[in-house]
Amino acid sequence: MTTHKLLLLPGDGIGVEAMVQVERIIAFFNDRGGDNTFVTETELVGGACIDAHNVAVTDETMAKADAADAIIFGAVGGPTWDHVPYEIRPEAGLLRLRKDLDLFANLRPAICYPALADASSLKRELVEGLDILIVRELTGGTYFGEPKEIVTLENGEKRAVDTTVYTTGEIQRIVRVAFDLAAKRGNTVHSAEKRNVMRTGVLWHEVVTETHKADGSGVKLEHILADNCAMQLVRNPKQFDVIVTDNLFGDVLSDAAAMLTGSLGMLPSASLGAPDEKTGRRKALYEPVHGSAPDIAGQNLANPIATIASFGMALRYSLDMATEADLIDAAVASVLDEGLRTGDIMQDGMTQVGTDGMGDAILAALAKLST
Ligand code: NAD
Repeated sequence: MTTHKLLLLPGDGIGVEAMVQVERIIAFFNDRGGDNTFVTETELVGGACIDAHNVAVTDETMAKADAADAIIFGAVGGPTWDHVPYEIRPEAGLLRLRKDLDLFANLRPAICYPALADASSLKRELVEGLDILIVRELTGGTYFGEPKEIVTLENGEKRAVDTTVYTTGEIQRIVRVAFDLAAKRGNTVHSAEKRNVMRTGVLWHEVVTETHKADGSGVKLEHILADNCAMQLVRNPKQFDVIVTDNLFGDVLSDAAAMLTGSLGMLPSASLGAPDEKTGRRKALYEPVHGSAPDIAGQNLANPIATIASFGMALRYSLDMATEADLIDAAVASVLDEGLRTGDIMQDGMTQVGTDGMGDAILAALAKLST
């Protein structure tokens, strides 16, 4: 019997409503019994934490985050906290979690449920059944390299500089994540860089090739130029399994891949740190891609699927519970097949439900699929 320690950080706005549905699913698995159980603690983060403690995340919560097997995060922010000083704004809580836990690997899956294939900007046959995972390096590269500045030249013109920097170690650790994940999925990694024009691309290519040789996991490696990767994502996205890339290219490619699948309310993500030396377990935070949606918060309108799917990713990637993760995916797919939709994914001829209604339906499907 394994007991998994989860820290739930619902945050603000629809983060709170969506997390209620995740708690119901956790209770379902606990009630069902089996080899895995969950203990959860819930803490404030973001605006709610500013209201209570005048900081976006407390030191006590950071200690719990450090000790948790996985953190499930809702969303933070909203107009209520627009006036607070920049250093303590709601997003500062999320940034501190990512920075202090050194969550350098950002995972963004792009999964297209057959029932939603018509919501994609691409033709149904190109996206139906799509299941891509983009692994983006999150703490290095162009967004953090120095010098990073705008200077005024002698002739009065301005000159802006961003610097792309990567070390061998930074590249090794992110590609190892990609190889580990691919081994649990379709067994193929595409590594995207621009070695034709960037020195960081040359080093990236070299280190990925060497790490792959040393890895020995049997995962298939393909190299692809990042611009070609963008083109292939819209031409024939189903050729990809895992794509690993740097911070800048990952930012762009993951947004492009996400839009292949339709709505913001459907997109989960994960951020992973280095494996613990003793246990091999990585620090990990799972969260939907969307924000706190103040325009619909508190009205039972939010789509909880992105947060539920984030919990599913925690089962798959942190807790070795792939069977249960598959069960959640199958439950979501079956509810969508039945024609149930929240407002954000509503289509003609379908039945609109609220946040609770979507939660009810997913729980019912879980119960049915697990008998
Ligand atoms: P948003 O993602 O909150 O909302 C964008 C639009 O999508 C809104 O119309 C919203 O109603 C809709 N939407 C988003 N998620 C939905 C869901 N699950 N179901 C149904 N509809 C959904 O982005 P925004 O409006 O730019 O930002 C609102 C607040 O959230 C801001 O304070 C922003 O800073 C914050 N934010 C936080 C995070 C985070 O916590 N990681 C991410 C993005 C934005």
